[in-house]
Parts: sequence; structure tokens; C-alpha cells
Amino acid sequence: MNDCLPETTAAWQAFEAIVRDWLRRYGYREMRTPILEHTGLFKRAIGEVTDIVEKEMYTFVDELNGESLALRPEGTASSVRAVIQHNLLYDGGKRLWYAGPMFRHERPQKGRYRQFHQVGVEALGFAGPDTDAELIIMCADLWRELGISPSLQINTLGDHESRQRHRAKLIAYFEAHQDALDDDAKRRLHSNPLRILDSKNPAMQALNDAAPKLMDELDEAALAHFSALQAILHDNGIAYEINPRLVRGLDYYNRTVFEWVTDQLGAQGTVCAGGRYDGLIEQLGGKSAPAAGFAMGIERLLSLIETGSVKLAVSVPDAYIVHAGEAAQAYAWKVASALRAAGLDTVLHCGGGSFKSQMKKADASRARYALIIGDDEAAAQQVTLKPLRDTVEQTRLELNLAIEYLQR
Ligand code: ATP
Ligand code: MG
Repeated sequence: MNDCLPETTAAWQAFEAIVRDWLRRYGYREMRTPILEHTGLFKRAIGEVTDIVEKEMYTFVDELNGESLALRPEGTASSVRAVIQHNLLYDGGKRLWYAGPMFRHERPQKGRYRQFHQVGVEALGFAGPDTDAELIIMCADLWRELGISPSLQINTLGDHESRQRHRAKLIAYFEAHQDALDDDAKRRLHSNPLRILDSKNPAMQALNDAAPKLMDELDEAALAHFSALQAILHDNGIAYEINPRLVRGLDYYNRTVFEWVTDQLGAQGTVCAGGRYDGLIEQLGGKSAPAAGFAMGIERLLSLIETGSVKLAVSVPDAYIVHAGEAAQAYAWKVASALRAAGLDTVLHCGGGSFKSQMKKADASRARYALIIGDDEAAAQQVTLKPLRDTVEQTRLELNLAIEYLQR
């Protein structure tokens, strides 16, 4: 779990501002849910035989009432829980988003933390492939704005019956190759054989490559959905690759799944992942309604943005006010207040000291200008404006002219 220090928060804030604007442009509205939920919610939503539920959740017993609670490992379960609880779908589909910390007890490494942050989007109540396409196209739009170009992989997981057929074939196939299975695969063979295909173990790759393909089992409706999605992507100039091995780590997906991946971040290359989960709302006790969404990892995206051409704005003060003398100090408070009222980011020197030592602090603050106020300036209601980032001479100006100058 990381501290986010002031040097870094500037980039986070710039990223968050871009994301908020982007989501508003697409008609998505923010939802904020608690960090804690009942452990049972995640077990039901994510599935018992998943990495998250088996070994990554931070759970504890609330000693006041004996309930098992968990720090949320992802945002979809909470979002769907809240939507059901507040009956948000009563008058039709909703486009929602959330952002915040998620918690998973994983082995920490670059791009993989125990507290990390996601921005997630949920389009609830919409069944068509146009919604899947919108989710993907809006991501592509954000990547352009952030100056990054992860590549898109898509797949379809089909519907319940085709998955059952595929599951039976997979079990038969892996049973016939018992000797080649690793421990995870053996454990999952009967509980969740599809997840074996998601294995990151290189020794399992050849076996997985030759396994029965879900694609061969899909029924017509799912195939039509998948090709309609591809047609919209094609029309909108979105390049993609079909990756039949993309099954996603969570149980709740059906039909469309997708990931945006990069090869610039080493092993943790997925920056955004999502898909359709039509069964989830009903599974969590709501009235059956289709759903789709995605979540992006902010830490991974910020590292990727660093490798690109767009620099997220780092904010520095416009002015640092230095002052010496009693009249100067009284005037400095008025000047600071006038600058701030004019929208200028202003640091007022506190703690006294000589002009020389104050100028050092002004420099270290990375402000664009020092505003120097001595008793002379105070008497004349003026300020001396000294550029700190270039070699232009300092000038003495009326306060209102100095403000206009700084605003320019
Ligand atoms: P992975 O295969 O990398 O473990 P996942 O399938 O568990 O990813 P999701 O649950 O789909 O990941 O989460 C969506 C996104 O959140 C990921 O694509 C990634 O960018 C980010 N993410 C997931 N887990 C972590 C983590 N522990 N630290 C940082 N980012 C993470
Ligand atoms: Mg994971």
C-alpha cells in the first residue's frame, strides 16, 4: 500500500480531472459506495473459485456483531448491490461510474499493489452490442487524450448453455491430460475449468493452446452479438485482436469480454478490463437486467502516461510573496488576498527572516514570480514583481497592474 506524496498527487489530480470530464461527455454519472461490504457479497458476485475470493480478499470479523466484512477488492459488486438496494433501474438503464481504492492481498510488485485504485464504468440495463461498443470506443477516446495507445483484445464467452457444453468438453480434455496439470489446474478442474485457461504458468501454455475452444460451441444469438460489436468497432476505426484465451479472472462475465493491454509495463500489462455480465444483477437478488462495464487501473495508467508524450499538468504557485517590515507585512496579507480573489495561486511567506532567506524559499516553492514587498512598496500600495523562471528584470507596479500581468 502506497503513500501518495505531493510530488505525485498533482499527476493524480490532473488524471482524475480528465477522467471526470470524459465520463461527463459520455453521459455517465458518478456513484460512491462504502469501502467495506459484507464478505458474502463478493463471494456471490465474484465467485468462490477465483483468485480474489480464494486468496486476495482482506476480510475480518466485526467484533461488535460477528459479521464478516471485507475491504472491497473491486467495484462492480458494490455498484450492483447499491443499484438493487436503491432500485435505480426502475425507470430504465443507467450509465454509472465510480473511482477509488480497491484492496487485494497479492504479492506486491511493479504495477501490482495491495491497495490500488480503479476507475470503473457500469452500463446497467442495456442488452445490445452497441453498449459493449460504446464502452470500448469511449476508452479509445480517453487513450487519445492521455497520449497512450494500449491495444485492444476482445473475446466472447457465449451464454450459459454453450458454456456448459464447453465446460464438459474442457473437463474431459483436461482429465485426459491429468499428468500435465499444475496444482491450480488440478484444483480448478471440476470447480471452474474455464479458469485453467487463464493460467499465467508458462508450463500450462501448450496444453491450454490445444484445449477445446468455446468459440466452437457458441450459439447463434451470441455469435450475432459478437459480430455486431465487431461491425461497430470497425466502423469507428477501432483496431482489435480476437484473443480466444481471454476469459477474465472473475466469474460473472458472459458474452463480450475485453482488455486493453500494453507491452510497455512489463508483466502487469493490462490497464483496463471489462465485459458483459448479464446474470449478475439477478444473481445478487435484483430483478434480472443486462449489464456491462469495465475497470481501469490508475497506477498502471499513470506509469504508461509517463512513457508517452502527454505530460499531466503539475501545478506550481503563480506567486510567492516575500515581505519585511511591519507595514509591509500588513500590506502583504491584503496583496495575498487580492491575488487569490483574482484566481492566482499564491503562497504568503510565513515565519519572517531576511529578504535573502525568503527569496530562497520563494525559489524552492517553484513559483513563477516572487512578489517583493518592503515598507516602500507598502507606502506606495505597489509591489515589486520578480520573475523566478526567466531572466527578465524585476519591475515595480501598482497592485492591480501586477495582478493583470500575472493573469496574462
Ligand atoms: P491481473 O490479471 O493483472 O491480476 P485482474 O484481472 O485481477 O488483473 P481486474 O480485476 O480486471 O484485474 O481489474 C481491472 C484492472 O485493475 C486491471 O486491468 C489492472 O489495471 C488493475 N489492477 C488489478 N489488480 C491490481 C493490483 N493489485 N494493483 C494495481 N492494479 C491492479
Ligand atoms: Mg488479479
